Amino acid sequence: MLETFRQLYGSAEGARIYRAPGRVNLIGEHTDYTQGFVLPMALDLATHVAAVQSPDGMLRIYSEQRRELREFSAAGIAQSQPAHHWTDYPVGVAVELARAGFPVAPANLLICSSVPEGSGLSSSAALEVASALAFLSGRPIDPLELARLCQRAERNFVGMPCGIMDQYISVFGRLNSAVEIDCRSLGHRFVPLPESITFTAVNSMVKHALAGSAYKDRVAECAAAAESLGQPLRDLSPAQFESRAHELPAVVERRARHVVTENARVADFVDSSTRGDLARMGRLMVESHRSLQNDYEVSCQELDFLVDTALSIDGVYGSRMTGGGFGGCTVTMLRPDAMPNFQRQIESAYEARFQVTPRLYPCHPSAGAGEESTPR
Ligand code: ADP
Ligand code: MG
Repeated sequence: MLETFRQLYGSAEGARIYRAPGRVNLIGEHTDYTQGFVLPMALDLATHVAAVQSPDGMLRIYSEQRRELREFSAAGIAQSQPAHHWTDYPVGVAVELARAGFPVAPANLLICSSVPEGSGLSSSAALEVASALAFLSGRPIDPLELARLCQRAERNFVGMPCGIMDQYISVFGRLNSAVEIDCRSLGHRFVPLPESITFTAVNSMVKHALAGSAYKDRVAECAAAAESLGQPLRDLSPAQFESRAHELPAVVERRARHVVTENARVADFVDSSTRGDLARMGRLMVESHRSLQNDYEVSCQELDFLVDTALSIDGVYGSRMTGGGFGGCTVTMLRPDAMPNFQRQIESAYEARFQVTPRLYPCHPSAGAGEESTPR
């Protein structure tokens, strides 16, 4: 990475490198923006940002994935307007940092990421959090404030009304552990996973367009449901919800049913994991997928095919779409020794059906964001 930095900016002296991970969400999908529960884990796929202070008042940001350099005046960055460009993510973070009392100094930045973009593994939050650390350049910040500030950048500047999950797990990820997040209290607990299972993400290679209207529609439909019912969806048990479901218009009812049952599934999944009930964990993942497919309607034929195919392969406990939907990845829970056969079979079935090779990402629960190293 430093060699690239040198080629780009002439010297990498004094460079500091910050890392922020992507994530896979095991269960609790589309529940974070209604104060619900989620169970993601940080991945070893991550975004790195290398940074060196610059003497000329400019803020330069280069993405190795985009092979594109953009320049801004550091003094004027706090007044920036969205450009509907990938730089909106780091620039939005700079704007929020300035607002929070952390003005951004002139610097040269290099972004390098192994998180696939637009695939539901949260390259956006990884980019935001890694950029924030680079802009902070060692200035201390409360980790929860860091996550919230990055979420505000995506909501206010990028214009995506996202919940807190992605930024939160990128900051609070823990090696060898999933993290259950309460998106109302913003507290969390670490959930160690049974050792006899592993998870893998499978990329449908269909890029979602999350910024599209469907996500915003779901956010609005959930708000309408909570408004009609007079309480946050996360405070309703499935039984309580069913007794009042008839009060809602049909589409809103289905959206709310997904959220209410999904919150219950998170608690059940955590409990089943603690008890080592692998079969139940798998079933809950499949129920989650069906709910996203039929009630929330954020799946697509490629994701459904990957889930259905996974369930027919030996050693698989469960599978579901992960992330916002409309493409991106599924996550599958399976026996570790079943992985090679799973990979072969899912690849050949998907190739035969869609003429595309899906990419697999074995999921290793990893640590949250931080400074990677301070090279001399
Ligand atoms: P996801 O977070 O699931 O990957 P999003 O649509 O939320 O999908 O975010 C993807 C967007 O984030 C990309 O379209 C791009 O604008 C930005 N992005 C993420 N990683 C990078 C990167 N390494 N370089 C440039 N832009 C990136
Ligand atoms: Mg994202």
